[in-house]
Amino acid sequence: MADIQDSSLYIKKESGEAVHGLSETVVGVLGGGQLGRMLCQAASQMAIKVVILDPLENCPANTLADYHMVGSYNDSATVEEFSKRCGVVTVEIEHVDAATLEKLEQQGVNCQPKASTIRIIQDKYLQKVHFSKHDIPLPEFMQLNDIESARRAGDQFGYPLMLKSRKLAYDGRGNAVAKSEKELDSALNALGGFSHGLYAEKWAPFVKELAVIVARGRDESISCYPVVETMHRENICHIVKAPANVPWKIMKHATDVACRAVSSLEGAGVFAVELFLTADGQILLNEVAPRPHNSGHHTIESCFTSQYEQHLRAVVGLPLGDPSMKTPAAMMYNILGEAEGEPGFIIAHQIIKRALKIPGANVHWYDKPEMRKQRKMGHITIVGPSLGIVESQLMSMLTQESTDNQ
Ligand code: ATP
Ligand code: MG
Ligand code: MG
Repeated sequence: MADIQDSSLYIKKESGEAVHGLSETVVGVLGGGQLGRMLCQAASQMAIKVVILDPLENCPANTLADYHMVGSYNDSATVEEFSKRCGVVTVEIEHVDAATLEKLEQQGVNCQPKASTIRIIQDKYLQKVHFSKHDIPLPEFMQLNDIESARRAGDQFGYPLMLKSRKLAYDGRGNAVAKSEKELDSALNALGGFSHGLYAEKWAPFVKELAVIVARGRDESISCYPVVETMHRENICHIVKAPANVPWKIMKHATDVACRAVSSLEGAGVFAVELFLTADGQILLNEVAPRPHNSGHHTIESCFTSQYEQHLRAVVGLPLGDPSMKTPAAMMYNILGEAEGEPGFIIAHQIIKRALKIPGANVHWYDKPEMRKQRKMGHITIVGPSLGIVESQLMSMLTQESTDNQ
């Protein structure tokens, strides 16, 4: 990979010469995980230059980025140095140094979405306060400072009670459920006590979890992807069905809530809105991610414009593309680590071998250096003529051990 100091990319940017892609804006991405990797793949199609900042030398986006600065997206000086190399700074993870982004914005650095959005979203309690101020329907919530406040939350919201860390949460790490008052202590301990900031949420009795990706361009234009259903395994997104199998009225309601939520945040990019659907047709917002999202992986094969291309178009100021589906149905299956090390790779490769024989199945492998239990290692999207057909293909991929040796 080219060194940034020597690369034509850097020289062109510094000299003001045009870069001959769809946009001459160099996109700087904080984070180089699988989302960063897929952003790089979309950027390559449009010949848009992407530079990434990630502490891991061999992170998933490393080999695909035009330049990888190895360093922490939580270190102020590093983020500042990185920003000098970008025409626009964006994120593939929200757990970045928001205060530095706010400072850089004041100095004229273009951050999309805006630093204010990252600051609100990275603190799930602040996020809830923000959305409740904007009349977005949410499960009730309460800040927790001590065991008495946790008991009060239990009295007010009932049990099971969801306890959450305010910051650094992902894949359900940072969530603990207390089934009764007796379990409050152990649930609070599992989250490391009160020092890092906790809050409580009323249990959402959902019948389905839905998600909507909303894109907003630099010109404030808004575009929504079809509503999908997300299914979780141990709090981790595992399977996504596109479109969601819900009545048209629910689709419209979910899309309205998602659009209103995103309209309350500043900046361009794609935003993923996670929602709960209750038995009586209520939609409650769970959380928003200010970036491409696991629930939108399927868009690479199933939509006219993938969420990754859309994010790039949005942040560099190109017109938004068509988010509608070009296939009637798609299902995405996350390949999660089943075991540590080699045994985990063997299980993953068995599934991949079966997927390669299925028409309409597309395998993505993130090239993560280590296999760990429950880690997102790759995903498979199957597209087809109906959800029923795609679902049966997925089931055969997951169960058809008898054909493994053919
Ligand atoms: P992500 O990887 O999506 O960022 P996260 O760690 O931020 O996850 P949440 O999205 O808050 O965690 O919760 C993970 C899952 O836990 C949800 O998708 C849902 O299945 C369940 N969950 C969260 N909040 C509630 C709630 N209030 N009531 C019932 N279930 C909930
Ligand atoms: Mg989250
Ligand atoms: Mg979530």
